[in-house]
This record gives sequence, structure tokens and C-alpha cells, in this order.
Amino acid sequence: MHNSANVTQTTTCPYCGVGCGISSNADSTAPSVNGDTEHPSNFGKLCSKGSTLGHTLIQEGRLLHPQIKGLRASWDQAIGHVAKEFKRIIEQHGPNAVAFYVSGQLLTEDYYVANKLMKGFIGSANIDTNSRLCMSSAVAAYKRAFGEDCVPANYEDLELAELMVFAGSNAAWCHPILFQRIKAAKSANPNKKTVVIDPRKTATCEIADLHLPIKPGTDVTLFNGLLCYLADQQQLDTSYIEAHCENFEHTLEAARQDAPNIRSVAEQCDLNAEDVETFYQWFSEINKTVTCFSQGINQSSQGTDKGNAIINCHLATGRVGKPGASPFSLTGQPNAMGGREVGGLANQLAAHKEFNPTDINTVATFWQAPNMAQTEGLKAVELFNAIEEGQVKAIWIMGTNPVVSMPNANQIKRALQKAELVVVSDCIEKTDTSAFAHVLLPATGWGEKSGTVTNSERRISRQKHLMPPSGEALSDWRILTKFAHAMGWESQFPYTKAAQVFREHAALSNTNTRQQFKLGDLDSISDDDYKALPPIQWPVSEYAKSGTQRLYTNGQFSTPNGKARFVSVTGQAVANPTSPAWPLALNSGRIRDQWHTMTRTALAPQLNAHKPEPFVEIHPQTAQQFGLIDSGYATVTSPWGSATLKVAITDNVRPNDLFVPMHWNDQWASGARIGALVNPATDPVSGQPESKHTPCKIAPWQPKWIGFLFSRDNLTIPQCQYASKIQGAQFYRYELAHSQAPENQDWASYAKNLAQITSDTETTTELITYEDPKQESFRYAWIDERGLSRCLYIGKADAASVQGADRGWLASLFEKNQLEAIERKALLSGRSPAGVEDCGRIVCACFGVGEKTITKAIEEHNLTSAADVGKHLKAGTNCGSCVSEIKELLA
Ligand code: SF4
Repeated sequence: MHNSANVTQTTTCPYCGVGCGISSNADSTAPSVNGDTEHPSNFGKLCSKGSTLGHTLIQEGRLLHPQIKGLRASWDQAIGHVAKEFKRIIEQHGPNAVAFYVSGQLLTEDYYVANKLMKGFIGSANIDTNSRLCMSSAVAAYKRAFGEDCVPANYEDLELAELMVFAGSNAAWCHPILFQRIKAAKSANPNKKTVVIDPRKTATCEIADLHLPIKPGTDVTLFNGLLCYLADQQQLDTSYIEAHCENFEHTLEAARQDAPNIRSVAEQCDLNAEDVETFYQWFSEINKTVTCFSQGINQSSQGTDKGNAIINCHLATGRVGKPGASPFSLTGQPNAMGGREVGGLANQLAAHKEFNPTDINTVATFWQAPNMAQTEGLKAVELFNAIEEGQVKAIWIMGTNPVVSMPNANQIKRALQKAELVVVSDCIEKTDTSAFAHVLLPATGWGEKSGTVTNSERRISRQKHLMPPSGEALSDWRILTKFAHAMGWESQFPYTKAAQVFREHAALSNTNTRQQFKLGDLDSISDDDYKALPPIQWPVSEYAKSGTQRLYTNGQFSTPNGKARFVSVTGQAVANPTSPAWPLALNSGRIRDQWHTMTRTALAPQLNAHKPEPFVEIHPQTAQQFGLIDSGYATVTSPWGSATLKVAITDNVRPNDLFVPMHWNDQWASGARIGALVNPATDPVSGQPESKHTPCKIAPWQPKWIGFLFSRDNLTIPQCQYASKIQGAQFYRYELAHSQAPENQDWASYAKNLAQITSDTETTTELITYEDPKQESFRYAWIDERGLSRCLYIGKADAASVQGADRGWLASLFEKNQLEAIERKALLSGRSPAGVEDCGRIVCACFGVGEKTITKAIEEHNLTSAADVGKHLKAGTNCGSCVSEIKELLA
């Protein structure tokens, strides 16, 4: 029964915008994590990230107490200090000298209080969110076209669609459960076609009937060409255009100038003309079409135009809000949509209202706000520039890690160093950003929070606590309420429970007139009903008490005259093009098993096994041109920063393009923070950064030595030019490479330093060594009362002894508290004694099945399909995210 008993508690996954439901037992010390079979987003399925959430519910690394300048403080002291500093700065420099930078990880209730506090009481709109980096271009595109930020469709439409277009979306890895639903629908309907528009051949191409490896940045031209094709083929829905839209002729004229014919489109987008025509033909012939677009569209200096170019084609064919037909922005974060509802972006007011006199007045009256902001605030990139320039002097960062995730991330460091006050509220103590905080405030983490989130299909779901807060952690809305009281606004922030905040948020939504966003009688929901609130899609009204599946079904939009707007757009060059000095285009993005800056997912050993080290993907031709070898090292440099990464040669990327994951940071690697390289150019409408295209160069990096270190204890990342940390079940592994040998060739002392053996621990630790200076091979193992404590292997840059060492077997030794004689003997060889097999890199995170196990099974049993592999090894049979990789191994 849904959310019924003491035994089962339902909640939602905190990672991607799919918003999967989770059910858990009521064991507050070790809550279980299973898919909620009754949640309409996932029907019981979870991907590799969601199903390992239990591993993240640990105390290690948590921020447990407030701190001022590194010293423990009480809540009253910490909040008192923050309020005093905010008041001082506001008094001296005005309200725009302070700011909040918040997160799509916050719950709607947290977001609502933060936004009310900043925009209504402090009197500035300087509150922006990391969702700015994720989907603000989609928000702007929807607002321009529909008059409101509304996703018209729902997940069922992705199943009903007979043509699925993925534009700049690797849903297979970034929205895995939704992708599995689409894949299942495709299996059930052989006529369903799928087109993937992406410079990279991603895992989503597993179900592609057509892949268009588009030149980065040229999507507007591709969709403008489609609009022209639809007109030329007389496939427009002219009666829909006439009755429900405006500005069509002007838009078509602009499209014709940009994309006069298929040949021109193919040339501009660097695509095969026949493939372009096939796409256009399918789009024109298949009515039930959904275009899913995501970061590949949004993270661009022309992201809003790209969104509108897509929406234009849907309006031109009347495919908006119809079963199986809509333009659909997939949001990256669990509550990006909730943030949009409450005005978490600096250019929005709460409840989908705008910075116009009427809306400002309505919100001010509703809040009884003494200092209502009158103009938009600074968007993320502008905000951190203003901090560095000294205009903004105090910044409160909530639940996000901008030193890693923002573009030009070294500038963020400079800005935070310059700020008079940096407050960070987070559940994790040590992050790249918390290192700059003057005040640290412990926030509850997933499993401890209670409130609501809204997923990509406008579905509001409850997130509920499964366990008590760690240490002195508080919900973000509680922290903000305390702060509001300390600032003197006690009566306007009377909140004692999340339900109270939610009711107020719902009541404000009901003041909307032309907007779709309304929550109806949820404004008077009882505490008990709020606790049991089933997933529901807004808008909610007296006519739609159980929510609304689709919007704009009658062709009436949220604009003042009710008509949707075609937006004239033409393709523009990327903001910072490649050049002879910076000849390559850097694309950054997500990998399958990590989330954002790894503060949670890196705690789950299974998730670190898939892509354990930071890497750069490069095409074979480009690799050859720059003298790179597979699994070697490279330094990637842009005008903004550089990183040292492992090389992965693959024809999944286009020649002259590079792909680097966005996740690694200074907590998990020594120099792989890719945000530091990303250019800070932004879209002029949405302010979203162009994270998908940065000009850069690459060069091989030849270390003097390579090595790896296993440790039972969590160590500081060793000071090597290349170092990456991988958390295992009972160990930490550090992959190392460096450009210098130790002074005087004193490898023994150097090894002790790397392994962080102190004089205290040395006395109780047995050391075994093997040193062969001629071969430049050095190996050390330290054993203490717990069993194997550390082991370190160092060799020449191409040392087979290091590269071929059996890390799986070495890892297994940390499960024991005593080594067998045979294991001690084999230890420094790095090879397992006979009978223990290395399963290789983990491909299937759900069942822990490695690459070598899969290839062996394929060869031995003559397996020919992913389904065969699944039958033999279970690999790929749970969330299915690894099926494309299994297919590659079969190939
Ligand atoms: Fe969580 Fe997204 Fe995976 Fe669902 S698909 S379990 S919401 S990460």
C-alpha cells in the first residue's frame, strides 16, 4: 500500500529530474532503498545511482555542527553572526551587496523561504540557483513561446510518441529510468522511431534509428531547416498556426535566410544531407512526435534560441500538449522545477510571476513585504563577477559547490577569497567551496529532509525523512527561518513545519490569473494529508483536483492574448570559437554513475567502479595528430585553466572535439576540476553558460613514474601531478603519476610520505618492501593489527607491473583482518595467487559485473546479444543503463 504503514516509508530520489519514487523500511539506522512500485514516474525501477542511495547515508564526512572561522559554534552564535554581518553590509552598501546562491537540490519549501527572504525582506533579487547552469535556457524559451515556463507534456507522452527526438540529451545516462521507459515502449511498438541529435555517439544511440552527430552549436540551423522543410512540404498545421499562434511569417522568413535548403543545413551542421532529409521527412510525416531537449541545447550562448527553434517546429505542426506530441525539456536536477515554481532564479518572482509592476505588487501584498525587490537580480556568472569586483560583499551558498560546477571556476575561488562574508550551508563538511567559508551551517541531507520536489513532468512528490538529522543539522527552511528571525522578521516567517511553508506557497500560486501554475486547494492541505500527499502534476484546480497531465490542450497559452509566439531565430557562432592557438572544442557533461560533484555518489563503491578516473575522450585521428595514446595522460588547457586527465580514445566523439566529465574536483583528484577550463560565455537571454563548447588544446603528458596506493584509511590526496581517489568497500585507492623522482632517489621515504605513514603509526606497523632501482620498480606494504593497512606500487611510466597489477584482488585483501601466507607472499607482486580472478572494470554497477567477466562469458558461451549476457550474468537486467556498453563488448 502506498505510504500506508509504519513498515514502509515512501520518498523520492535526490538525483536527476526523473524524480523516481523510493520506498524504504522504517529502520532509522539503516534504511533500505527500493523503487516505489506505485510511483508513476518509475513504477518501482531505480537506476544504479538511485539504488545505491543507502551507501550515502553515512556519518563520515558530514558537517555536524555550525562553525565560525573553523571553530565550533552554537546555532544561535552562528546565525547571530551571519545576521549581524548581513545587517552591517546592507546598512553600509545597500541590499544588493548581499546574495544567496542556492540549488536544485533544495526542496521547494527551502527554496520558497530563501526566495521570500531575499526578494521580499532583504530587498534584493540577488538569489540565483545552480539550475541556472542546467535549464535556464529552456525556462526562457518556454516563456518566450508560451508566455510561461511550462512543460506541456508528461512521461507517458514519451511512450506514446511514434517519433522520439533527443536533442542534446543523453537520457540513457542522465535520465536512465525515463530512457528505459522509452526503450520498452520502442520494443513494444516497432514503428516507433528515434533520432539522436548529439555531437557524441552516446549511450542513448543504443535505440537510435538515426544519429545526427551535429557540429557543436549549430542546432538552431538544423531546426530552422526543419521549419522550412515543413513549409515546403505543406506539412504545416495552418489552422492551428492561425488560431493559436503569432509571428509565424516573420519566423519562417528568418529561418529561410538561415537554412535555405537541406544542402546548406548539412554543410553548416557538418552532417550528411541524406540523414538530415531523413530526419525532416520523419518529423513531417509522424504526428506523434516528442522532442526531448536537455543540457546539449541549454548550455550554450544561444541556448534560448535553440529551445525556441525546437518549439517553433512543434507549434508549426500543432504538436503541443497532445498525447504523444510536445517539446519536452528534461531537467537535470531533482527539484529544478520546484525552484522555478518559487522564483529561485534571479530574474523570476515567486509562483511564475514576473518583475512587472502588477506582479511585484501582488507578491509584496501577499508577503506583507517591507522591502520588495523591484528589479531582477544578478544571474550566476554575473553574481560571482560582482563578488570579485567587490559590489557583492556577502554570499550565502546553499547545497551547491560552485568552485567545481561554475564555468571559469578559478574565478569563483578568487571571488570567494575577496568576499567579506561567505556562508555555506551544506550536509558535507569538506568541499571545494566550503574551504572558502567563514561560516559553515550543517544542513540535513537526503534521508533526513522532509518537503516536496517537482520533477521534469511537473509532478510534485514528497521527499520524507527516513532517519533523524545527523549532529545538529537542520532543514534549510529552518535555518533560513532562524536567520529571518535574527534579522527581525519573526512574524512574517512563523514556520514551524514544512507543511506550513507549502500551504503558503500554494496560496500564492492561487493569486495567478493568466498563469497555468496554480496549486488549488493544496493551499489548505492538512498536515496529515501533506504527509501522505501522493505524487501530483500541477496545475491543481477545482476542475483538476488530481492534477493535470497536459497543458495547452485547447491551444490557449499563458500570453496576454492567449496566443503562442513563434520566435525568429537564426544560427549564431559559438561565443568563443576554436582557433589555431586553441584548435579543439571541449564539451563537458555527465557520466552514468556519478552525480554533480561526487559528494554523495563517490561514497557508493559500486558507482566508482564504472569510470574510476577522470578522463578525456578524443577521436583516434585527433589523438594521433596530438601524439596521444589510449590510457596515457594528457594535459588539456583552455584560456581559463587546465587539467591532467587519462586519455580515452574513441570514435564516439567527433574529430577535433573533446569530452570531459564534469564531476571530478579537488576532493577526488589533484587536477581534474573541469569547471576551471570552461569558458564563462553566457546566453544573453537566459544567462546560462556555454558549458558545451570551450576552445582548448591538448598535449600528451609523460610522467616520470606511475603508481597506485591502497589504504584502509581515508588519506589526503597525495601531492602528485596526477592523483585520483576511488572509494571502495573497505579501502581507498589512489591512482598516481608524477613528473619527478624523489630527491636523492630516496624512494622509501617518499613512499612513506605518499602513504601518509606517521611516526606514531610506523611503530605499530610492519613494512614489507621490494625495491629494484634498475627497473625503477618500488613496492611497499604496511600491515597493522587490522590486517593490510596500505600498499603502494610504483614503476616507470609504462610499467606493466603497475598497469597490469590485479587491483581487484588487492582490494579484496582489505576485507580480511589477517593475510594468509600465500597472500603475503603474492602481495608485492600485485598478482593474485592462482584461482582468484580479476573481473576487470565494472560495467554493470547494479550487479557488480566486470568487463573481463563479460568478455569471458561472451567467448566461452558464444553469447550474441545483451539479453544472452543478461541471462548468464544478470548484467544489464536491472536498470539497463549498461546495455549499450555490453553491446559494445559484444561488437
Ligand atoms: Fe534517481 Fe534519476 Fe536514477 Fe530515477 S533515474 S533513480 S531519479 S537518478
